[in-house]
Amino acid sequence: MNKEKIEALVQEGKMLPLMEAFYTIQGEGHHTGTSAYFVRIGGCDVGCHWCDVKESWDAEKHPPTVTEKIVDEVIKYSDTVVVTGGEPLTWDMTYLTQMLKQKQVKIHIETSGAYPFSGIWDWVCLSPKKNKLPTKEAYQKAQELKVIIFNKHDFKFAEEQAKQVNEDCLLYLQPEWSVREKMIPLIVDYVMKNPKWKISLQTHKYLRIP
Ligand code: SF4
Repeated sequence: MNKEKIEALVQEGKMLPLMEAFYTIQGEGHHTGTSAYFVRIGGCDVGCHWCDVKESWDAEKHPPTVTEKIVDEVIKYSDTVVVTGGEPLTWDMTYLTQMLKQKQVKIHIETSGAYPFSGIWDWVCLSPKKNKLPTKEAYQKAQELKVIIFNKHDFKFAEEQAKQVNEDCLLYLQPEWSVREKMIPLIVDYVMKNPKWKISLQTHKYLRIP
C-alpha cells in the first residue's frame, strides 16, 4: 500500500498507529483489579514532563495497523478493552469503537480530553493535564476523573478540575509514580479531609505486570 493510501486510512481511523496491545489487569482507577485488553495508540503532544510512556509520543514510530486486526486480537482475550496512549483522541476513534461494539466489547478510554471526542465509549476516564486542558465535552463525558499528584499544587488543580465534571463523576487522586513515597502520605491526609476523593494507585506497577 502506498503512503498516501495509508495516510488516508489513518485519517478515517481504519488504520491506527498501534504502539502495543496486551491482555493484563487494569491497575488504576475505578476498574482496578479487573482484567482487560489494553490497546495503546501512539501519538501525543500534551508533553507531561513526568509521562511514563514518552515512547508513545511520536506516532511515526508506531506502524499504522489495520483496525480490524486490532479488534480481532481484542476478542481473542477479553470482553473489555481499554484504549489508551499516547492520546487516543489524536485519532478518529469512530471506526475502532464501532467494530468493537459489533463484537459486544465493553470499551473504556483513558484520555487527557484535550482533543475533540470521537467514538462510542462505555467508560470514560479523564486524566486532565495542565499543559493542555480538556475540552468542555470531555468534562461532560467523564465518568471518572483521575488527577495525577506530582506536587502540592496539584491538589488545587484537582479541585479546579472537579468543579468542571458532572456530579456523578467519580473522583480519584493518583500519586505520580516517581514521587509516590513523598506524595502518598499527603494524598491519604487529603482524602480523609476531603472524602469526595478516592485514592488510585498504579497497582500494576506494584504487581510488576504491564
Ligand atoms: S497526556 Fe498521557 S501520554 Fe500524553 S504526555 Fe501526558 S501522560 Fe504522557
